[in-house]
Amino acid sequence: MENCLFCKIVRGEIPAKIAFEGERVMGFYDINPQAPVHILLIPKEHIPTLLELKDKELRDEIFSSIIEIGDREELKNGFRLVVNVGRDSGCEVFHLHFHILSGRRLNWPPG
Ligand code: 5GP
Ligand code: ZN
Repeated sequence: MENCLFCKIVRGEIPAKIAFEGERVMGFYDINPQAPVHILLIPKEHIPTLLELKDKELRDEIFSSIIEIGDREELKNGFRLVVNVGRDSGCEVFHLHFHILSGRRLNWPPG
């Protein structure tokens, strides 16, 4: 999508520190990290929110990628997976993304 921030990152028009590269997904480090490790895993194609993620093969690639990242040494003490959907979640970027947070003790409940 022309004006979507994360589509621009996929096209290389906005630089990002790449954390993971898959066939239809990519992971990059969040510009404003909420934990020592804060990766955003996204589909390369523009899908606005989780509610529009209908493609089962893509779902499979997303979750196998998250599992692969979650198994890394830098996440060895655990991680949190967050998907914000809709107004009350505080979602700001309407290109589906999975937050993978790690590297510190995370509060629960999140508030
Ligand atoms: P949301 O609140 O929509 O779930 O999360 C959007 C995330 O995208 C935020 O954590 C924010 O810091 C991150 N973000 C926004 N703009 C950029 C950018 O240009 N580059 C990177 N790497 N992350 C971004
Ligand atoms: Zn997009």
